[in-house]
Amino acid sequence: MAPLAPSPLPPPRNSTRPVKVGSVTIGGGHSIVVQSMCATKTTDVDATVAQVESLAAAGAGVVRIAADTRRDCEALAEVRRRTRANLSVDLQENYRLAADVAPLVDKIRYNPGHLYHHERNRPWQDKVKFLVDVAGQHDCAIRVGVNCGSVDPALASREGHGVRAMLESALDHCELLDQLGFTRYCVSLKDSDPANVVEVNRQFAARRPDVPLHLGVTEAGMPPEGIAKTRAALEPLISKGIGDTIRVSLTVPVARKHEEVEAGRRMLADIAAGRLLGPQGFLAAGLNIISCPSCSRVENEAFVDLAEKVREATRYAAEFPITIAVMGCRVNGPGETDHADLGLWCGPKFVNLKRGGTHLGEFSYGEIIARLKRELDGLIGNRKEWIAEAQRRSAEYDAGATSASSWPDVQARARRQAGLDG
Ligand code: SF4
Repeated sequence: MAPLAPSPLPPPRNSTRPVKVGSVTIGGGHSIVVQSMCATKTTDVDATVAQVESLAAAGAGVVRIAADTRRDCEALAEVRRRTRANLSVDLQENYRLAADVAPLVDKIRYNPGHLYHHERNRPWQDKVKFLVDVAGQHDCAIRVGVNCGSVDPALASREGHGVRAMLESALDHCELLDQLGFTRYCVSLKDSDPANVVEVNRQFAARRPDVPLHLGVTEAGMPPEGIAKTRAALEPLISKGIGDTIRVSLTVPVARKHEEVEAGRRMLADIAAGRLLGPQGFLAAGLNIISCPSCSRVENEAFVDLAEKVREATRYAAEFPITIAVMGCRVNGPGETDHADLGLWCGPKFVNLKRGGTHLGEFSYGEIIARLKRELDGLIGNRKEWIAEAQRRSAEYDAGATSASSWPDVQARARRQAGLDG
C-alpha cells in the first residue's frame, strides 16, 4: 500500500507530549492522526481484516477493534497476523481481557465508566493499575475514553452526567496514571452535543495542556448531518490548537466505513486552509437524531437501515426541538439514550423503545417505526402547546401585562407540562 500524505498541520498546536502508537505518534506537534473503528464482527476474521485494510488505505493512522470475549481475543490474534496497521482495542466491561489482547495491539482504550461492572468490590484504582502494568509489559499506549452516556455511577451521582462529571472523571484518571508513572496515554471526552464537546475539551486542555486529546462527537449520526455535527465541535477546538487525533463517528453500512476517515481528512484539510463550516453547518434548534456508528457489538444488521428509516419517517417533525437516539446494542443502548426524548436500541429480534425515562417495551423491526411515530406525534402535540403558551405569554409580557418576575415561572411550568423537563 502506497503511503498517504500526512494530514495538514493547522497552526498553532498545543504542546502536548508525544504518545507513540505503533508507527504513528499522537501529540508532540505531530500531524493530527485520523482514526476509525471496525463495525464488523470481530470473530469474522476475513471481514475484519478487510475492514482494517480499507480504513488504513483511506488514511486511518489507528484502527480500533472491539474485544468483549475470549473468542474475540482469538480472532484478534489472527487479525494481527494478517495486517500491519496500527491497532487499538476497545475494552468495555471486561477490563481483564487487556492481558490477552495487549500483546496483539498498539493501544488499549478503556472507558472509566465501565470499570465498575466487574469485581465491584475492587477499587477502580486497582483496575487501572492492572491496565497500566499490562500496557507497560506489551509496549502499548492507553486512551482514557470518557463518554457522556456512561460516566462512572459514583461520580454521576455526585456530579450528574454533564460536562463537569466528564471532566472530573478524566482528571482523576490522569492523576492516577501520572502517580503510577505511566505517561504514554491520551484522553477523549465525547458527548453527542457538539457544544458540550467544545466546552469539556476546552476546560480539559486548560487544566492538562500536556495530555494529548482524541476528539470526536459520540453518536454523531448519519452523513451529512453527522459530519456537520462533528465539524461544529472539532473546528473551533482544532483552530485553537486543541486536539491531536480525531474520529468522525458516522452511522453508515460496513462497506462505507471508510467515509469516516475521508470526512476527517477533508475537515483537517479545510481547517488548515481556513475553510470552516462553522456552527451554521449544524443547526441544533430542530429535530436532532443521534445514532451510534455501530461496531462489533451491534445486535442486528438491520441497525443502519433502521436509523435511516427513523430519519426518513420523522422528517415531517424537522422544526421541533426533539431528540431521538438510535443505538445498535443492548449494552450501551439504555444508557446512551438517557438524555433523548425518544430512545431506540436494537436487540437481535426486537427494538426497545423508551420515552424520556420510561421504557415502553420491545417492538419488532416491522412495527417499530409506526410506534415511534405515535410517540413522536404525542410529543409534538405537547411542544405545540408549549410554543403557543410561550408565544401568548411573550406577547403579554411585551405588552406589560405580565410582571418580569413571573416570566421564568411561566416558562418553567410550560416546559414541565410539555415534558421538556423532569
Ligand atoms: Fe457499538 Fe453498541 Fe456503541 Fe453502537 S451503541 S457503537 S453497537 S457499543
